[in-house]
Amino acid sequence: LTDINQLADEYLRLAYQGLRSKNQDFNCDLITDFDPNPSNIEVVPQDIGRVLLNLLNNAFYAVNERVKKGEPNYQPKVTVATKVADNQLQIQVKDNGTGISETIKAKIFQPFFTTKPTGEGTGLGLSLAYDIVTKGHGGTIEVESMEGQGTTFTMRLPKL
Ligand code: ADP
Ligand code: MG
Repeated sequence: LTDINQLADEYLRLAYQGLRSKNQDFNCDLITDFDPNPSNIEVVPQDIGRVLLNLLNNAFYAVNERVKKGEPNYQPKVTVATKVADNQLQIQVKDNGTGISETIKAKIFQPFFTTKPTGEGTGLGLSLAYDIVTKGHGGTIEVESMEGQGTTFTMRLPKL
């Protein structure tokens, strides 16, 4: 069984380093909130790793957009959380970035939907994440967001 906490921790740091390598001035609080109990849910680590990376890249992008606006006293923060239950594993990626407006929220899982400038986004990250979680793992993925406050993606993976 995959150690989901270790996987999540690795990808959190990987995604952060990805942005830091292009922008040394970028600094962000990295928070982990992990269930200490091991999960009995089988996941394909490459696939869930890919989903995590897509969600985390979006999270770091969203906080960096607020950094670029120069809001006073803004401290970026990205959190990964896991929660283990009998027949379900919940994984969350949270950020205190730009947030997503209601009109845009309806479209984010569609392939090729992006609000990013050419070269910065393909619009494929979330549609791929959706397919991996729902078709690949029989799970669900949901978004909660407040414009100007931040975003939380929650995936729930059942025991198959
Ligand atoms: P891309 O990142 O290439 O634009 P995605 O499928 O990963 O494509 O995301 C689609 C769109 O959803 C993004 O362009 C952005 O508008 C929105 N989005 C996704 N994640 C976040 C987030 N954490 N905060 C704010 N907006 C987000
Ligand atoms: Mg993306």
